Amino acid sequence: MAEWQRILKERSLSTLQQLVDKFGPEHFPDLGRLQHAADNFEFRISPAMVDLIKEPGDPIWRQYVPDLQELDVVDGVMDSLGEDADSPVPNITHRYPDRALFLASPVCASYCRFCTRRRKVGDPEKIPMSQYESAFRYLEEHVEIRDVILSGGDPMLLSDRRLNDILARLRRIEHLEVLRIGSRVPCHLPERITPELCEMLRKHHPLYINTHFNHPDELTPAAVRGLSMLADAGIPLGCQTVLLRGVNDDVDVMKLLMQKLLAARVRPYYIYMCDNVAGVEHFKTTIEKGLEVVEGLRGWTSGLAVPHFVIDAPGGGGKIPLTPEYVVRLTDEEIVLRNFRGEQYVWKQPREDDALVAAATGTDGSVVPLRGKSGKPKKKRGVRKSR
Ligand code: SF4
Repeated sequence: MAEWQRILKERSLSTLQQLVDKFGPEHFPDLGRLQHAADNFEFRISPAMVDLIKEPGDPIWRQYVPDLQELDVVDGVMDSLGEDADSPVPNITHRYPDRALFLASPVCASYCRFCTRRRKVGDPEKIPMSQYESAFRYLEEHVEIRDVILSGGDPMLLSDRRLNDILARLRRIEHLEVLRIGSRVPCHLPERITPELCEMLRKHHPLYINTHFNHPDELTPAAVRGLSMLADAGIPLGCQTVLLRGVNDDVDVMKLLMQKLLAARVRPYYIYMCDNVAGVEHFKTTIEKGLEVVEGLRGWTSGLAVPHFVIDAPGGGGKIPLTPEYVVRLTDEEIVLRNFRGEQYVWKQPREDDALVAAATGTDGSVVPLRGKSGKPKKKRGVRKSR
């Protein structure tokens, strides 16, 4: 057994009784009902996350400790993104034109209570590791797919050998240009990032890793060290963050998280609205809160630290970006914009003559006379005559 496997096995919390013993029975007044909540989704908190809990109810606790609110289902659904409808063979979701999701592992180091895929994650029957072959064949046959994202569960909980076998097999498929791994291991189990793992991963470039951090406290020295090892192996690192009530629905918390990610060589990629999943509704914030958080990033910190803010559309519509409104007025003559401080600025549209010259500029930069049959200059569609 590798050292990281031993740490996960021996030092994680994986029963309610262990939670009670660690934090005290006064924090679990209705243990019977809480067990129902815990039974609805796999439960484990890895040592790195246990160590980060400062007090019951804090942002780390909220992400991993079962909560009675998970039993209050209002309009949440099991498969909120309609992934199963887009699954042509086990382990594969193929929704977008040129990329596919490959669920390679059923297990995670810690189980996030807000997990969108909680209907499957933790259950080896629902993410079967014995049926990779049909997934490989599907990817081989679909030449339009150029980008495969390994997910699960967490693919980095596979052994080095198994992960290497999967990546090597994918690398033999010529039309797959890019491989990506989605993993919360750098946060949940930084001990997993070993020199041997990095040596193995670097053989499969171009390989990207999208990790997942939700709170600045999660960027511990061990996590930053692990991320640095991955970056040193030449792997571009991105981060997906979920906007969660009581965890990071605050401008200052989110800004610090993005800044710490960037300092750890991770490019923030997405902030997701929490999906409409049964048992997860107490994590949802309003759209206005999300826009406020994103507006508190743009202009107030490096552009590199500002990710796309998206809703993964219910029922399988895919990721749709949301942006605060910066356009005050748009006419044929000008656009009036407001900057991050709320100050207004005017940018003039090109005049008709300018637009004609721009439209008639050759690729080498030379100006090509643009004339109709009459010999008069052609009028560019949609451009108003200047007054
Ligand atoms: S690590 Fe990812 S897949 Fe695993 S429980 Fe958390 S959100 Fe779900």
